[in-house]
Amino acid sequence: MQSQKKYKRIVVKIGSSLFSSKGRKLDTALVHDIAKQISALVKRGNEVVVVSSGAIALGMSILKLINRPKHLKDLQAAAAIGQHELMHVYKLALKKFNLNCAQLLLTWDDFLGLRYHNAKNTLNTLLKLKCVPVINENDSVSTEEIKVGDNDRLSAMVANLVDADLLIILSDVDGLLDRDQKVIRRVDKITGEIKALASPTRKSACVGGMVTKIEAARIAVEDRIPCVIANGGKKGIIIKVAKDPLSEGTIFLPK
Ligand code: GLU
Repeated sequence: MQSQKKYKRIVVKIGSSLFSSKGRKLDTALVHDIAKQISALVKRGNEVVVVSSGAIALGMSILKLINRPKHLKDLQAAAAIGQHELMHVYKLALKKFNLNCAQLLLTWDDFLGLRYHNAKNTLNTLLKLKCVPVINENDSVSTEEIKVGDNDRLSAMVANLVDADLLIILSDVDGLLDRDQKVIRRVDKITGEIKALASPTRKSACVGGMVTKIEAARIAVEDRIPCVIANGGKKGIIIKVAKDPLSEGTIFLPK
């Protein structure tokens, strides 16, 4: 109960890799499980904001594309096709637990000036309504110059925007692995050595996004928000981490 209060407002980032299991099909069982965990947390008084990837992956699957498009306009179109499908999936899954969801599509310049405050007010109001905001980057209108670029960083910026108590980044890896492939449980300082463990040249299960996850953790801890990187495929993982952020994956602690 103590930690429920301490980590009341939680941002959960869900990566595309979790959505498409074997055969590039949407893993509906996993989405159902995520919705179940969110509803259990909301019932206990937590506030949960989801940052979810998957628009481009779902768009590609609807368009029956095997390879990720190379041109920006094709990626933007795939995102536009996939985004509402993504929301449909969340809507159906959360509805089963009597929860409403809301969509916010943000990009870099929404974190500046008046738009930052507008987004903040909207999110606070949605949370008061016990609604689950589901956020993605506004890929269909974002270009290189104005893009956050990846949802790991976006989730850290959202955690700052809503003054979250905890950021949970869910992926298909167990956390940050050391050189012996063991999960590092706790990081008190993001040193060069820690960054090197995420290097894309390193052959390990956690390559593929670990660089941006560590960057997201850096942004979060600078804002005094602890960040946990954990395996979203594990049953009950969100609840477990929300109760005790030291229990699973890798935790990055603020100074
Ligand atoms: N916004 C992208 C999408 O929904 C994903 C970006 C990311 O996974 O970092 O497809």
